[in-house]
Amino acid sequence: MYYPLREVRILSGSHGNTFGWVRKYSDGSPKAHQGWDFQARNDSPLYAVCDGEVVHYDKTDNTSYGKSLLIRLDYWGESLYAFYAHINSSIVGKYDWVSAGQLIGYSGSTGNAKGSSANAQHLHFEFRNKSQCGKGLNGRIDPQRFYGPPPYSWFTTSEPVYYDWLYGEAA
Ligand SMILES: [Zn+2]
Repeated sequence: MYYPLREVRILSGSHGNTFGWVRKYSDGSPKAHQGWDFQARNDSPLYAVCDGEVVHYDKTDNTSYGKSLLIRLDYWGESLYAFYAHINSSIVGKYDWVSAGQLIGYSGSTGNAKGSSANAQHLHFEFRNKSQCGKGLNGRIDPQRFYGPPPYSWFTTSEPVYYDWLYGEAA
């Protein structure tokens, strides 16, 4: 699995921008975050994390996710989905096949990230095991499975990660 960006860090290095019941509603009850927020200035290049096929490019920007890309991944024979949200643009479209590490579009601050200051701009990124998911963590997979513990400090990478933290070495 590749990273969706070349410059990688969890937004603000904050636990609340990782996966799970890491946020709270104003009344204090737990609130789910369905993926990782990667810090990324608007128009940062985005990459396919695995070989796959584009399922949907939503360029309407009329949901909280803003413009988004959904790609079905062929991960060692397992069908998974990668979801890129708040993006500015895609250079791929529905039914296009993409290769791991291929440039697919550019990040942004669409949807409920509109107007984000430079230091708050990010890619909301999810792994899913089905294409359509509800609220909460339904259908979502913790990115830690593929990348290991959340990266709270910046690093640069163009290399894939071959280790599967849930199942051990991938295939
Ligand atoms: Zn997010």
